[in-house]
Formats: sequence, C-alpha cells, structure tokens
Amino acid sequence: MSYDVLIIGGGAAGMSCALVLGSANKAPFAADKKIGIIMHQKASALANGLFNNVLGVQPGTTGKEILESGKTHLSDLYAHIDQIEREKVVKIDGVSGGFTIFTNKNQYKTKTIVVAVGPSNLFSIEGLKEYVEPHQSLPPAKERIQLKNKDHIVTEGIYVAGILAGWISQFSIAAGSGAHVATDILAKWNDGNPTVAHDIA
Ligand SMILES: Cc1cc2nc3c(=O)[nH]c(=O)nc-3n(C[C@H](O)[C@H](O)[C@H](O)COP(=O)(O)OP(=O)(O)OC[C@H]3O[C@@H](n4cnc5c(N)ncnc54)[C@H](O)[C@@H]3O)c2cc1C
Repeated sequence: MSYDVLIIGGGAAGMSCALVLGSANKAPFAADKKIGIIMHQKASALANGLFNNVLGVQPGTTGKEILESGKTHLSDLYAHIDQIEREKVVKIDGVSGGFTIFTNKNQYKTKTIVVAVGPSNLFSIEGLKEYVEPHQSLPPAKERIQLKNKDHIVTEGIYVAGILAGWISQFSIAAGSGAHVATDILAKWNDGNPTVAHDIA
C-alpha cells in the first residue's frame, strides 16, 4: 500500500491531524491524496484521563471514550482515510517522497510521515532515534522526550505532532498541533498557498 501521507499514532494529535486532512477532500489539490493513520492506541496518554477542561468535550468524558469516538468520527465522515489497526511502528527508512514504514506486521510506502506517538522515553522507532532529545516543556524528572524540530518539521518529509513536538501536555494543545501539521501539509499540496478546511452551517 502506498500513501501520500501516513500518520503514526491514534491519539489526540494523530486523530486531529487525520480529521483536518480528511475534511479537505473536497479541495481539488487534496481530492486524489491517499491518507492513512496507524491507529495504535494502546500507549495513549488519553487512556487514563478524565476530560473536564476541553472546549467542545462534554465534562466527564473519559479518554477511553475519546479514543473510540475519534475512530468512529473519522470513519463516519472521512471513510477515504485508511485506519490501520493493531500495528505498531518499529522502523522508518528512506527519504522524502519515498519512505517505507515498517510495523510489527507490515510495510507501507509513503511520501510524507507525521509522527504523533507521544513523549514516552520508551520511544524506539528505528530511523528516528537520531532526532530524540529531552523534552523542553515537561519537568525533567518525568524524563519525557521530544523530536528535534522546527515548526513541526523534523526533516524533509517528516513532521512531528503533539506532545512529542515539544508542547506541554494538554489535550487541546496536542490536538491543535496535529491540526496545524495538517494545514501545513495541505498548503504544500496547494502549491505553497495557505489553506483552511472549513464547513459552513
Ligand atoms: C492521566 C492523564 C490525565 C490527563 N488529563 C488531562 C486533562 O484533564 N486535560 C487535558 O487537556 N489533558 C490531559 N491529559 C493530557 C492529554 O491526554 C495529552 O496531552 C494528549 O493525549 C497528548 O496527545 P498526543 O497525541 O501527543 O499523545 P497520545 O494521545 O498519547 O497519542 C499517542 C499515540 O501514539 C500511539 N503510539 C505510541 N507508540 C507508537 C508506535 N510505535 N507506533 C504507532 N503508534 C504508536 C499511542 O498508542 C497513542 O495512541 C492527561 C494525561 C494523562 C496521562
């Protein structure tokens, strides 16, 4: 399977990125793009959280519910996005325009990668370890990591989104980071012209 963009990680940042990319499918520059998300959720920070302080999320909503409803939201509205379940990325190889992503079960070709796997110091994806550095916003005692980046770009063709990009750990910030990366990718597809994906009521 070959993608234009493959998102790694199905948490706050990864699913937000997928929703914005998916919602742009009416734009001519995005209509033919093949998008996928490796929907691994076993290691999400959301799993143990209770979310009372996120705009638009009903107070009392659990992170487990958000993980489930995010997948349904994506498949109901943007079914053209492939959700790859029960696979974990172990390695990436290649250069911009021609990456291979290796999971514990399969391999996928993609032109662009979005890494949204959270800031755990158990990070073990071969091909990205050279970009790992201590997290700049979280307390050193937590020993979290981030990927070196400038404006979410790790290196050509590889974006990082969410808390792994160096942001402090709040749901809205992680989601906003994923959405930001999506609009940067859309601008690239649109010949460098900034673009938004909006629906009108
Ligand atoms: C207990 C707890 C309570 C919290 N409460 C709040 C709160 O009340 N309000 C608030 O705003 N924020 C809260 N947060 C913070 C919020 O959950 C995080 O900031 C947010 O989930 C970070 O989003 P992310 O996408 O960067 O990472 P995550 O949501 O952790 O997503 C990362 C995803 O990557 C996947 N992944 C990891 N490794 C791989 C791999 N090798 N291959 C493929 N996929 C992989 C994981 O399974 C996961 O789905 C809480 C966090 C915790 C832990």
